[in-house]
Amino acid sequence: SEGVTVAELAEALDVSANDIIKRLFLLGTPLTMTQSMSNDLVELVADDMGRKVRIVTAEEENSFSFYDDPKDLKPRPPVVTVMGHVDHGKTSLLDAIRHTNVWSGEAGGITQHIGASEVMINGRKITFVDTPGHEAFTAMRARGAKITDVVVLVVAADDGVMPQTIEAINHSKAAGVPIIVAVNKCDKEEANPDKVRQMLTEYGIIPEEWGGQNMFVNVSAKKNIGIDELLETILLQADVLELKANPDTFASGNIIEAKLDRGRGPVATLLVTRGTLHVGDTIVAGQSYGSVRAMLDQHGEHKDEARPSDAVEILGLNSVPAAGDEFRVFEDARDARDLAEQRALKARIEEQNKVKHVTLETLFEEM
Ligand code: GDP
Ligand code: MG
Repeated sequence: SEGVTVAELAEALDVSANDIIKRLFLLGTPLTMTQSMSNDLVELVADDMGRKVRIVTAEEENSFSFYDDPKDLKPRPPVVTVMGHVDHGKTSLLDAIRHTNVWSGEAGGITQHIGASEVMINGRKITFVDTPGHEAFTAMRARGAKITDVVVLVVAADDGVMPQTIEAINHSKAAGVPIIVAVNKCDKEEANPDKVRQMLTEYGIIPEEWGGQNMFVNVSAKKNIGIDELLETILLQADVLELKANPDTFASGNIIEAKLDRGRGPVATLLVTRGTLHVGDTIVAGQSYGSVRAMLDQHGEHKDEARPSDAVEILGLNSVPAAGDEFRVFEDARDARDLAEQRALKARIEEQNKVKHVTLETLFEEM
């Protein structure tokens, strides 16, 4: 059988394997260290020791093991992250893309900040993730998640390659994400877009027109120049990538950002990477769970569903998940709660163990 072995259970419960072997013997089921136990037997032994355990299925444990039949895959929009050195114009560019004024104050604007935004160009959608680039990539690396398909690297034409430009290039390369360079501030007199191209060749970022792999677009976020061309270039890059996902299954994806809202409780912006999320679905996100009570887009409009590459704000979680956490829909609300609570407990144990060494027993006594 493929159940938990005696040694594994001992490890999980932080007790000696001999203790378990002894109890098994007394229960009339003698087993050795390396033999597997049925789920029922695991629960029985744990119960015998005054513990409650729940067997997590392989699917629950290994969240990234989803498999889709290629015939179920449908094209999906690209998810884009804007990166670049401070003051090179990331916020201004996103702002120009959304035709709003986010950085100069949100008052009066129709766009609320939800951590991501969707824009339409030529009848096609592009999702922009606002998370500061390096944070998005740290989360991606830590969880093996892929929350961006394309990086737009903003480089100011009057300043050129700077430390955070190089950092962004390294992150993108490590994650295998293609880079489109937006050479910004081209409206400035001292702008030198060709010098930017020249400088970037040193880091392996070479324009297509020079025989390289990278698309470049000269823009001015301030004067709204080249923005449509940049969006069209992103779509070209997306076509090359042939981005696909299965929309006809339970949703999963990642938390982009989350916070506790005084009036509305935990609020999370999530990106759907697979399946379709519906209002009323039960989800687990990291250590949080809940039923999706409401779903809102970046304009605060209610939505009924979110499909692959859609970013939406949701209400209904019991706590605030962490940015980068994976989420997925559960058919059974009890399973969702169990998994989230188990994770929260595990995290609590790890946290306590950092402070002082405690066994599960002492923790349970405290609870
Ligand atoms: P971030 O730190 O990368 O988000 O950069 P910001 O978007 O905050 O821009 C930094 C400064 O550069 C601001 O004062 C902007 O007004 C200015 N800026 C951004 N884009 C342009 C541009 O295309 N042309 C000019 N002249 N200034 C720009
Ligand atoms: Mg900014």
